[in-house]
Amino acid sequence: MLVVICGSGGVGKGTLVRRLVERDPRLWLSRSWTTRPHRPHEADDAYVFVDRDRFLAEVERGGFLEWAEFLGNLYGTPVPRPPEGADTLLEIDVQGARQVHEHDPGALLVFVAAPSAAEQERRLRGRGDPEQLVRRRLDKAAEEAEVAAALGAVTVINDDLDRAMAEIEALIAAARAG
Ligand code: 5GP
Repeated sequence: MLVVICGSGGVGKGTLVRRLVERDPRLWLSRSWTTRPHRPHEADDAYVFVDRDRFLAEVERGGFLEWAEFLGNLYGTPVPRPPEGADTLLEIDVQGARQVHEHDPGALLVFVAAPSAAEQERRLRGRGDPEQLVRRRLDKAAEEAEVAAALGAVTVINDDLDRAMAEIEALIAAARAG
């Protein structure tokens, strides 16, 4: 089974995803490739960081399950190779979620939303992105919520980490039960 966590920047997807894999050994987190520069304080293995030529060569080779351009950078999910019996967890944008949904309509799509636009802005600023990029990410957020709703993604509001975790874990359990 594929579990897709999508949502705009600054909604706390990364924290949720890290916790989900810590708590559930049957979830296998896919590591994406990106052409975005490495952020200060970001883990070296947050992504496979590559240049555009290397990324496009991998597209040519058919190495990605999905890929998308997000605010000028390319992001892609390698074709997943989870261990036997594991479910693959993807943290991707809504364009990627749409592609996954087209390949695999049975994938569980979860759209994580911030409790408020003000909170999302605060989180995005705390990450050290340039101001112009913070604005573009915020502008994109409304559009992303619409795309996710059209795909039938389940929205989870990340106002309280424990509650949001419980909601996502219940969705995964229900999807596994079929
Ligand atoms: P960031 O630059 O903040 O790490 O990521 C920007 C956006 O790209 C986020 O919405 C993130 O979830 C998304 N993203 C990360 N990896 C992938 C991927 O492999 N495919 C797609 N489509 N989006 C991704």
